[in-house]
Amino acid sequence: MIIILRKDAQAESVRRLEDALKAKGISPNHIEGANQNIIGLVGDTSVVDVDNVLAQDCVESVRRVQEPYKKANRKFHPDDTVISVKDKHIGSGSLQIMAGPCSVENEKQIISTAVACKEAGATMLRGGAFKPRTSPYSFQGLEGEGIKLLLKAKQETGMPIVTEIMSIADLDLFADVDVIQVGARNMQNFKLLKALGQCDKPILLKRGLANTLEELLMSAEYIMAGGNMNVILCERGIRTFETMTRNTLDISAVPLLKQKSHLPVCVDPSHATGIVSLIESMSLASVAAGADALEIEVHCDPKSALSDGGQQLTPDKFAEIMKKVKSLAEYFGRTMG
Ligand code: PEP
Ligand code: MN
Repeated sequence: MIIILRKDAQAESVRRLEDALKAKGISPNHIEGANQNIIGLVGDTSVVDVDNVLAQDCVESVRRVQEPYKKANRKFHPDDTVISVKDKHIGSGSLQIMAGPCSVENEKQIISTAVACKEAGATMLRGGAFKPRTSPYSFQGLEGEGIKLLLKAKQETGMPIVTEIMSIADLDLFADVDVIQVGARNMQNFKLLKALGQCDKPILLKRGLANTLEELLMSAEYIMAGGNMNVILCERGIRTFETMTRNTLDISAVPLLKQKSHLPVCVDPSHATGIVSLIESMSLASVAAGADALEIEVHCDPKSALSDGGQQLTPDKFAEIMKKVKSLAEYFGRTMG
């Protein structure tokens, strides 16, 4: 990090700033230039509050030369992180497919969907028990009962389960859940992220509706700073001016996140597009872009779905897409599962 000093900076103000930085374990190196004086900071600058530095009388501007995320940064952890979920590995070069309904609705629905997904090639079962809905009048999920039904489906199929947490208060209900999902709307719920940093379960962290990749990585950093290194980043589309799709899938996020971070990357083409007919091409594009996992919504009867009916695949369509996904993965020398 470089601090550019004002031309009229008072020596006393500069000294106070340097002392404050030293107290944080940072070495400030004062460099006098012909036109501008600067301070180069050496040390872990993630502890420096840029706004606070900017608020000092002597400071004109601040430039970061290194990313503010350390634990999620590939520079400090060159090898890919591989996250194990039972006998499945995410980030090892294989491709994991998390499939299942938007919401868990009843026992018959979740079991029949889970069985069909597994038969078609899914390696993990997704399903929402706590649903973040735009309208308070929409179906809110079966909550604890939904998690129990997911566990039944897990017993029936042997597939690990992925489901969303909305509040720390519900954490105990997730004891037997294999992957805890943090939804787009909670990507910056920092209290929730901190609490998840204290547990040892894999976290599927979805990108917020209007968040940058750096913000996504900083949210991963929150979880990792608490000691939980098992974070899977998930691109699920972002809000843009485009209205023909539910969101805009930022496919470039996949290789870029993998360059910037060692964490595995998942893509959710269902919420990214909201359109059944786009799921196949976006799934293939995600595999080609290097995604470690896909999260896809599948419902045994999408027309009767209590949420996101318009974007959920039938098991038959899902099976058809999986055949193509499998061939493409194999073309890249990767296996599914
Ligand atoms: C979901 O996966 O069920 C979901 C609500 O997704 P997102 O948080 O990406 O909108
Ligand atoms: Mn959904």
